[in-house]
Amino acid sequence: MSELILTVAEVRDGSVGKPALETTGEARRLADGRGGRVAVVALGSAVAPAVEMLGRYGADEVLTFDHPDLAAYNLESHAACVLKAVADCKPTLVLLPATVHGREVAAWVAAALHVGLASDVVELSYADGGLTAVRPTYSGKVRATVAFDAGSTPHVATLRPNVFPVFGPVEGRAATARAMAFEAPAGAGRVRMVESKVAQKGAVDLGEARVVVSGGRGMKAAEHFALLESLASVLGGAVGATRMVVDLGWVDHAIQVGQTGKIVNPELYVAVGISGAIQHLVGMQTSRTIVAINKDAEAPIFKIADYGIVGDAFEILPALTEELRKALAPVAV
Ligand code: FAD
Repeated sequence: MSELILTVAEVRDGSVGKPALETTGEARRLADGRGGRVAVVALGSAVAPAVEMLGRYGADEVLTFDHPDLAAYNLESHAACVLKAVADCKPTLVLLPATVHGREVAAWVAAALHVGLASDVVELSYADGGLTAVRPTYSGKVRATVAFDAGSTPHVATLRPNVFPVFGPVEGRAATARAMAFEAPAGAGRVRMVESKVAQKGAVDLGEARVVVSGGRGMKAAEHFALLESLASVLGGAVGATRMVVDLGWVDHAIQVGQTGKIVNPELYVAVGISGAIQHLVGMQTSRTIVAINKDAEAPIFKIADYGIVGDAFEILPALTEELRKALAPVAV
């Protein structure tokens, strides 16, 4: 029987988020290198449309847990489903996205199975028969390589979003679906979802954005974030912020980038009025291209920027937005 890698995907509105697709893509890459298979645990209510999607993105089999109680995230219920899938298909490796939910479920599952967990992984490889994982530590200053104990399986890992490429999608590629019975775990109900709110309706999700335009204290006031929103909208991106401006109450913590906020890894990161403190850098320094706008030529952010503009954000932002609007406008025929 060939080796099996299990990944976990939360299904919302019949669809799966990019971090879970990346996790499935990495499982596909590892499985292909070892002649193995990929199974995905799909959790939610009305998950059927996600089966076809997961097939195109690299799954061989989708284990569906389809129940109204799974419509909203619940640690005990979701972890119980993953543990049931592990018992059923005996994977060698279980991968989850290092999202808020994925991290929590992974820790629960690894503890319940008494196996090792590597969290926030940015590289996975099999060497000398064993699995090793690379994970940033000490605010990204150190990359630690950790090895799983070969005798303790399954190995469990969470993968940092926006690091691993998705597989495909390959049109016509299909996964088989297997319905799994959801049984509410003993003790379920100790935590109930009372209400959930969408933080920025209609906006591009910060964690998945290809472009992030972030502002710091140099933006001077909450209302000036409209300048960043204009630039982000022209570039099809999301707005981020430093902790300083979150603490000042200018923006919601949901868009904070950094050690105590979100880790982003976009193709383009524009840092405006941001000094470049290490706690901010750890959340964005792996971005493919970094552009910094700061009036202080000595600001530390310029040390990691690919392009730097020394000047006043209030002069540069409107001009830059206008030029990009013209340059990116569809050509009339
Ligand atoms: P400042 O450091 O005040 O920088 C403002 C910048 O704006 C300056 O460089 C200035 O030259 C420039 N500027 C001013 N006016 C203009 C203008 N008109 N045009 C252009 N530029 C201008 N920070 C985070 O961001 N994320 C985190 O997750 C985070 N976690 C933390 C966790 C801990 C435990 C601690 C201790 C700190 C954490 N911080 C975090 C805070 C971090 O140390 C910095 O204080 C913060 O990032 C600084 O924010 P800032 O760059 O907006 O402000």
